[in-house]
Amino acid sequence: MADLVVAGAGMAGLVAAARARELGARVDVYEKGDRPGGSMLLSSGVVWRYRDWETFRAECPGGDPTLQRVVWEGLDEALAWVESLSAPVVARETGNPRTIGVRFDPAGLTRALARDVRLQEPLPEVPDGVPTILATGGFQGDHELVARHITSEPLVLRANGSSAGDGLRHALGRGAELSAGLDEFYGRNLAAAPRIEPEDFVPLAQVYARHALVENARGERFEARHWADLDVVQWTAQQPGARAWYVVPDEALAERVRERTVAEAIEAAREAGAPVGRVDGATTVEVVAAITTTLGGIRVDERGRAAAGLWAAGADVGGISTGGWSSGLAAALVLGRVAAEDALGK
Ligand SMILES: Cc1cc2nc3c(=O)[nH]c(=O)nc-3n(C[C@H](O)[C@H](O)[C@H](O)COP(=O)(O)OP(=O)(O)OC[C@H]3O[C@@H](n4cnc5c(N)ncnc54)[C@H](O)[C@@H]3O)c2cc1C
Repeated sequence: MADLVVAGAGMAGLVAAARARELGARVDVYEKGDRPGGSMLLSSGVVWRYRDWETFRAECPGGDPTLQRVVWEGLDEALAWVESLSAPVVARETGNPRTIGVRFDPAGLTRALARDVRLQEPLPEVPDGVPTILATGGFQGDHELVARHITSEPLVLRANGSSAGDGLRHALGRGAELSAGLDEFYGRNLAAAPRIEPEDFVPLAQVYARHALVENARGERFEARHWADLDVVQWTAQQPGARAWYVVPDEALAERVRERTVAEAIEAAREAGAPVGRVDGATTVEVVAAITTTLGGIRVDERGRAAAGLWAAGADVGGISTGGWSSGLAAALVLGRVAAEDALGK
């Protein structure tokens, strides 16, 4: 019999399993999807933290400071551990002056972490008495939970298709509690192309709302301020059809947002068939709100404990980024390791 069961073979689950094996445990990892890697495999692979603690607190003021400390203080050591497993590093900087971290190749990271994963939905079958780590990746894939907590408007799912609140439901059934911020999510406004496939999740993101005029279908406006467009995405999610229009003045086209100019992001939208036009000497782009990950979920303590015999890690855990956004990969990495150690009494 296994010493530990892990539900979910994405970032948090694979990390927890790898750490547990390193500690000599027999681990059963179960995966509901048809491949390991979860949303991590679709991600940009940047595992990061705010450069200083005060900035983290200011950026995510509603988050549990104890959990935030665990992630913030544990990340550098956890990153060195991932590198020791031969995960391929693409860059040792994030491209964002507020943050530091490492960018991994997501496919190589998955390969470095994944071993012996069973592609099978596990939760009803977990044997009694075996410590279990829930790492099913949040509830963004469940329409009913999203409608209840976040919005009834139709969001595009910008994540793996299997993370549908299974961990949350299981934990609540075992006496766990909810975290703060159940109505918050992290996502992007994507160009409203007729078809949006997983390989479009990064190129179709239109992350320049602070250089544009933002309107909904009724012509009501929103002033974007957040550096990652978090505010405008959350606003768009509440508008009719979860849609908005960016009106971009010509002088903003040369602005650089990370690795692209605004003009290059708009060109990617046009090439994908999204509505891009010209009005009064400005460029208009139709966007739709897309949900990457929920930010509320299971409440855990500083060792990842959710209930008796039950731990959680990754996006199943809520209350870390509340009020803003911090790296989901970093939280999954640090808490995945911590939960594995605690579940094995280490
Ligand atoms: C396009 C994109 C870009 C991103 N870029 C970044 C970035 O650069 N930096 C960053 O920090 N974050 C980024 N993210 C977010 C990051 O990918 C997530 O925060 C992270 O993957 C969360 O880890 P997790 O283990 O909780 O979930 P996941 O990695 O999604 O893994 C959850 C796994 O659980 C499985 N599962 C679900 N239900 C069950 C069940 N009942 N039983 C068994 N298995 C189940 C799922 O199939 C999945 O494999 C990005 C995400 C996307 C989609």
